This record gives sequence, C-alpha cells and structure tokens, in this order.
Amino acid sequence: MRKPIIAGNWKMNNTAQETKNLLNELIPLVKDAKCEVVVCVPYTDLYAASEILKGTNIGLGAQNVHWADKGAYTGEISADMLLELGVKYVIIGHSERRQYFGETDETVNKRVIQALKKGLIPIVCIGETESERENGLTDEVNRRQLTIGLKDISAEDIQKIVIAYEPVWAIGTGKTATDQDADETIGKIREILGKMFSKDIAQGLRIQYGGSMNAKNAQGLMSMPEIDGGLIGGASLKAQDFSIIVKAADNF
Ligand code: PEP
Repeated sequence: MRKPIIAGNWKMNNTAQETKNLLNELIPLVKDAKCEVVVCVPYTDLYAASEILKGTNIGLGAQNVHWADKGAYTGEISADMLLELGVKYVIIGHSERRQYFGETDETVNKRVIQALKKGLIPIVCIGETESERENGLTDEVNRRQLTIGLKDISAEDIQKIVIAYEPVWAIGTGKTATDQDADETIGKIREILGKMFSKDIAQGLRIQYGGSMNAKNAQGLMSMPEIDGGLIGGASLKAQDFSIIVKAADNF
C-alpha cells in the first residue's frame, strides 16, 4: 500500500506573519489525517513554519535546493541550510522553475542527487505543456524528464522520492486533467519507472497529481488507483480548502 501524500506548494506567497496565521488555522484541521501532509513554503517563511509545525503531523518542505554543498552561488540555498530549519521535503523541477528560471532536466538531476545525498525527500515534478500534449508527446516528454532527471539514482534511493505529475497546462489555470486522463498518464509513468528500475520498485513509488486540484475535484482524482496524492498550489493557500483535499486523500 502506498501512503498518499498531499503537499502544498505555496509558491511566492505569504510573508512570515501570514505563514503563522495560515498554519495556525491549518494545524487543527488536519491533525487527524491518515495521509502524509506537507507544506512547501518560501525560504523566508521556513523558520516561522518550522517553529509552528513542531510536534504536529505536518511536514515542512522547501521549493528548491542547490546541488552544491556551499559556495559562490548568489541567491541559492543549500541542503544544509534547509536541514537546519527542519525541512524534510523539497520540490525539484517545478514547471515554473523550468519555464521562468532555466531549470533543465540536467539541473533537476543534480538537485535530486544532492537532496538524496543530504537526506531530503525530493518531490520531483514532471509533465507536458499544452502543445506537447496536443502533439501526442505526453508520454515521450515524461519519459525524457524521468530518464534524465533521475539518472544515476540508485534503486535504494529512488524509493525515497515522490514524483508529481503536473501537466503544465493545468497548473494555475483552473483546467484539470480528467480523473481518467490523470490516472492513465500516471499509470504510464509507473511503467516507465518500472523499466528504469524494476516493476516492484515502481509499484511502491508514490506519484502525485498536480494541476488545479481543489476542494471540489480532489475526491474524484484521489479515488483513482494510480494517484497517490496531490501537489497543490492555489488551493493550499486556504486552510479550509487544503484540509478538504487532505480528507479526500484519507478516504482512499
Ligand atoms: C503547483 O504549483 O504545483 C500547482 C499544481 O498549482 P495549482 O494547484 O495552482 O494549479
């Protein structure tokens, strides 16, 4: 059995004070969750979040990590910096990083390797753009992103990661993949992972869906056999909505 994981990606939202308010509202709403609950907050909110989340069932995540231990990388954040603040998870390869900040499959791979070396759980994002989908390239794009992004990861390490399938056209747009579409594509991603590692390993890996998941559509998506949770952007900024998504995951 794969334990569902619901992770909020706050993106560039919330000051430290707003973080305290939102988490204080969220903690009691999800305290009995059976699924894994994570919030990936901006770097400047990590300290405030780590203080508030102590002793709760909500895990703390960041939204990126650099591949070097330390050094002349102005504006970047190292794994040790995150670990000291109690960070356990890190989103890597989000489509906004790929689209606006030059992230490539190769840099994703370097970050994943570093996160694993340091004991952080990478949430590795993959997914096709609208035009790639229209051209029938969805599986090919996912295969490329997985093959390069997860290159040189051992069979042991791969079992620690979470994959987030996030069709780019569904992120922040209000357009969601249908339950069946998302399930089918995630099934194919599992097949690709099965060939890269082994069928058994692929069966054990958690693969989230992400892209305009919200309080209304979460139940349907979560009921699908291949979908093991969600990476939630917009709806993770509202405690009530996020907790409804957590409850949807708890039902399966
Ligand atoms: C995301 O940022 O990973 C995401 C899925 O965003 P949204 O839920 O807003 O589409």
